[in-house]
Amino acid sequence: MSEKVPFVRLDQEYRQLQSELDAAITDVLKRGRFVLDERVDEFEDRFAEYVGSTQGVGVNSGTDALFLALSALGVGDGDEVIVPSHTFRSTADAVMRNGATPVFVDVDPETYLIDPEDVRRKITDQTEAIIPVHLYGQPADMDPLLKLATQHDFAVIEDAAQAHGARYRGEPVGSMGDVACFSFYPTKNLGAYGDAGMIVTDDSDIVDSLRTLRDIGSTEKYQYERIGVNSRLDELQAAILLTKLEYLDEWNERRRWAARRYTESLTDTDVTPPTVRGDAEHVYHLYVIETDRRNELQKALEEEGVHSLIHYPVPIHEQRPYVDQFDASLPVTEQITDRILSLPMHPWITEDQIDRVVSTIHDTL
Ligand SMILES: *Cc1c(COP(=O)(O)O)cnc(C)c1O
Repeated sequence: MSEKVPFVRLDQEYRQLQSELDAAITDVLKRGRFVLDERVDEFEDRFAEYVGSTQGVGVNSGTDALFLALSALGVGDGDEVIVPSHTFRSTADAVMRNGATPVFVDVDPETYLIDPEDVRRKITDQTEAIIPVHLYGQPADMDPLLKLATQHDFAVIEDAAQAHGARYRGEPVGSMGDVACFSFYPTKNLGAYGDAGMIVTDDSDIVDSLRTLRDIGSTEKYQYERIGVNSRLDELQAAILLTKLEYLDEWNERRRWAARRYTESLTDTDVTPPTVRGDAEHVYHLYVIETDRRNELQKALEEEGVHSLIHYPVPIHEQRPYVDQFDASLPVTEQITDRILSLPMHPWITEDQIDRVVSTIHDTL
């Protein structure tokens, strides 16, 4: 059998930047300061600037970024937060961990992004916030959502975990909501070598609150103001992320190149390539196709050594504990779950590899 086509290649990323990364890591080890120090400050500033925001607060994951963002906004008991069900689990868990209630909404059948019409229908007097997810690397349709937020006075929290560097009508994702949450999980477009996350915002009060919350509720050492958590970005990860941030645009450009090649080669097949809105600059965290013979195709790809994945196999409103508490019916979300498939996508994928994936699709469907 021919060589495998892996889903991601973090080893190749390291090889490209080995000398720079080794130097950045060694520098942290030699300085001997590992938590909330210079590299974290520098990365918070640089990343916030990169996404068009003024301040950043580094935390230990995207999951905690979402949880802490809602806490800092004061979302809690009795509040409702509108979220898509077609997303990574943490988007909804962040709401539950704050004692609030997620209100699940459906997605657009072409882009799989949160549907502003369904959002409008589900706004109540209890709605305190909405979490649009820039899923797969494509920005959510923000203008109608921001308008609803102003009309009904609720907060907008961007879940930008999959969309570092994406733009909506020219604006970087991360600059549009009241706050935005990023994950630097290793496989994201900008990834750490472990867990890491960040919240960005222009609001200094929220920043103050977040800095306290992430550090056991303290304003300075042994001065506690409230109950917090230990969720700090560490110096090693910050140094690694600072090094890699310089390459993010180049890597996103390579992802876009790969996506163009896939899409051009898939036009005369039975699969539907991703739909990109005209106002969106997609960064292809994932390249997701749709077909009514998904399981058969995934099996055929596996036999050819092509690794594909499903994002996500079960909508959140059908998972425990949500399934026992909510009886939402989300027709589009429920329908696409059986039809979507994520193909190998990363900055080091080659023409040959894309062509092998495509020819397997041609042979199977
Ligand atoms: C990855 C991801 C998260 C969670 O980030 P972690 O750093 O893995 O905790 C949240 N939301 C979305 C949409 C994600 O893709």
